Amino acid sequence: SAIVFGSINLDLVARTPELPTPGKTLQGHEFFTAPGGKGANQAVALARLAVPTKIVGRVGDDNFGSELLNSLNTAGVNIECVLVDETVSSGVALINVDDTGENQITVISGANGCIDDIDLDCLKSLLPNAAVLLMQFEIPMPSIILAAQAAKQAGTKVILDPAPAATIPAELYPLVDIITPNQTEIEQLVEFPVSDIESATAGARILLQRGVGCAIVKLGAQGAVCVTLEESFFVPAFTVTTVDTVAAGDAFNGGLAAALCEGLALRQAVVWGAATGALAATKSGAQSSMPTRNTLIAFLEA
Ligand code: ADP
Repeated sequence: SAIVFGSINLDLVARTPELPTPGKTLQGHEFFTAPGGKGANQAVALARLAVPTKIVGRVGDDNFGSELLNSLNTAGVNIECVLVDETVSSGVALINVDDTGENQITVISGANGCIDDIDLDCLKSLLPNAAVLLMQFEIPMPSIILAAQAAKQAGTKVILDPAPAATIPAELYPLVDIITPNQTEIEQLVEFPVSDIESATAGARILLQRGVGCAIVKLGAQGAVCVTLEESFFVPAFTVTTVDTVAAGDAFNGGLAAALCEGLALRQAVVWGAATGALAATKSGAQSSMPTRNTLIAFLEA
């Protein structure tokens, strides 16, 4: 089974003719809410692929929080380690999208930012049964480091999606079995441009030197590069009709983690990641675009 330790947000999306400017009131076309947060998105991706998945995180004691818990539960994600925090609001992302597709996003981490030792204790109780711990950077860094240490001790594989881009403390690298940056994230980590297989491989090698066991660089519509001390390979992207690539990276991580939970080899796990990312790109939205296990298997066999 899998544990996801990460963020749970409600996305509040407004479609407007142009992006609002200071002091201006705009008439928008449309409004909707959708469950999001990288942690929740990746947990839903895993659950859709029929992997028993528990999310560890926090929501506020508000309407958004109960809506978020409900949607995770409906998606088949176990929420026994989601704490309802009475002191703070649920995490939200305020998203404006204009007619050209340009966006403007404000994230208020709320309850996600209050994660502490209480959440870690719940996480530790789950580790003995978990093959994989999947984390991202929308929760406090000290908790991520402590969770990685506990997972290492328990023999649970640690997968880290270093998103949104942030500086990684030196002590975290050696605790990570697999790191999965996208192009912009690895550029920030290694401080040189990454755009193709060669530069991605060079960047991945630097992350290996810093202590990770494996670096997988996601290169959008190109595919993904995977480097370990033993091997280095490229998995091309699957060709699909792209509708929107929102949460393609989250889908990739879900697919990768699902394959590893099932004991598949690394190369096949990267193929699962790429296929899950490609399928998510064929549908709009974040969690709503995650493929089911049957869809993934049929796509891989086609
Ligand atoms: P992120 O969403 O984190 O920026 P990417 O855009 O690199 O991540 O997407 C993650 C993975 O999803 C890619 O490595 C690729 O395998 C797959 N993917 C993304 N966009 C497409 C696309 N347009 N067509 C096919 N596969 C895609």
